[in-house]
Amino acid sequence: MIVLKFGGSSVADAACMRQVASLTKAALPKAPLIVLSAMGKTTNGLFDAAKAAEAGDLAGAMERQRLLMANHRKAAEDLFAGTVPEALDTVLTELFGELEMLLRGVAMLRELSPRSMDAIASLGERLSTRIFAAFIGGAWVDARTILRTDAVFGEGAPQPEAIKALAAEHLAPLLNTQRAVVTQGYIGATEDGLTTTLGRGGSDYSAALFGAALKVEEVQIWTDVEGVLTCDPRIVPEALPIPDLSFAEAAELAAFGAKVLHPATIQPAVEAGIPVTVRHTQKPEGRFTTIAAKVRSGRPITALASRGPVTVLTVSSSRMLAQSGFLARLFEVFGRRAVSVDLVATAEVSVSLTVEADTPLKLLIQDLSAFATVEVNEGRTIIAAVGERLKSTPGLGAQLLTALGDINVEMISMGANEINLSLVVKQERATDALRRLHRVLVGSAS
Ligand code: ASP
Ligand code: MG
Repeated sequence: MIVLKFGGSSVADAACMRQVASLTKAALPKAPLIVLSAMGKTTNGLFDAAKAAEAGDLAGAMERQRLLMANHRKAAEDLFAGTVPEALDTVLTELFGELEMLLRGVAMLRELSPRSMDAIASLGERLSTRIFAAFIGGAWVDARTILRTDAVFGEGAPQPEAIKALAAEHLAPLLNTQRAVVTQGYIGATEDGLTTTLGRGGSDYSAALFGAALKVEEVQIWTDVEGVLTCDPRIVPEALPIPDLSFAEAAELAAFGAKVLHPATIQPAVEAGIPVTVRHTQKPEGRFTTIAAKVRSGRPITALASRGPVTVLTVSSSRMLAQSGFLARLFEVFGRRAVSVDLVATAEVSVSLTVEADTPLKLLIQDLSAFATVEVNEGRTIIAAVGERLKSTPGLGAQLLTALGDINVEMISMGANEINLSLVVKQERATDALRRLHRVLVGSAS
């Protein structure tokens, strides 16, 4: 068994759905479960319609409902060369009727609870899966019969044990090599059958949960990039997809805003020992990334990421010399002022820390000045070199600094998990720094 998840951009119109159909067909020998998002932009459209209704703008809500309907009908007509099968036509009419009733209810009460919002948002995935299942002649399963969550609407917490039992009962028997099974990402239901969602972008999470419950051999996340890249391609054009990525590496990259699926969403699969691959729907023969619990990537540095601007604070106190309790005192101030610290590097009489550029510093500095002097350097960028083999590669630091050449490194910090070596440079040198590091240390990774 295998799970294939397709995001909104992969099912955005009839042409996209045809491509998904061909990938589904190719996966048939593996008894696939196809998990779909709503057609691109549909979920946003549903949110907009709901908000218009909440504001009492029923006409605006209905107009949006009609646009969504037209878009789905057009996709269905394109797929079926003009003649939508009666059964599908009836289902679409029912679903849009349901949407209209919900929107009218919201408009009448001018009240949009998270519970109502989930009921409305669920229509995106229910529509896309109906159209697609009809097109491929697949079995359609309502995810709400399997993906059990708690009753926190808008951000339901999945209940893995219940999901496992429900999947074994209602899903596993349907999976076979003759006919694909199609279900929805993002949506679930409470024990009482109330519709919930996992939060925006939740379809990857659904795919991982289904995969873990069914113990499939692989969860494939099909999207519009060829996997996770070695660096942001807007900064380093020669960035390439990373063949193998560990879960910890993925988490580090995500923390640095790398455009990678959120690691928390694939954790259920990774924990169950199931590899998760990230693939490009329009380039199925191309490269892709495999994320697993542990991998030994081929190179000490798997990827580079950056975040900026940040501000570096250097807190010094000569009284700190050979004193205990200084750090406790220092961090107590940050804690009290609710300022979150990113990198930390200590010297004998000073500590350097990075904070977000928009941190309100006035009160913080006032407090710190009671026992130390503070130097503030704004406009810095953190560059993170991430790799499982960083810690076991001698001479890497020298290579790194050599590659940077005349770019001054103001701070260095090795993450506690030893897979992230972070450097701080002036913001205006960050692009150059990333390019140089990429060329020397990552360049031929793939
Ligand atoms: N359709 C939902 C959203 O746009 C879930 C997803 O696409 O993952 O947030
Ligand atoms: Mg998505």
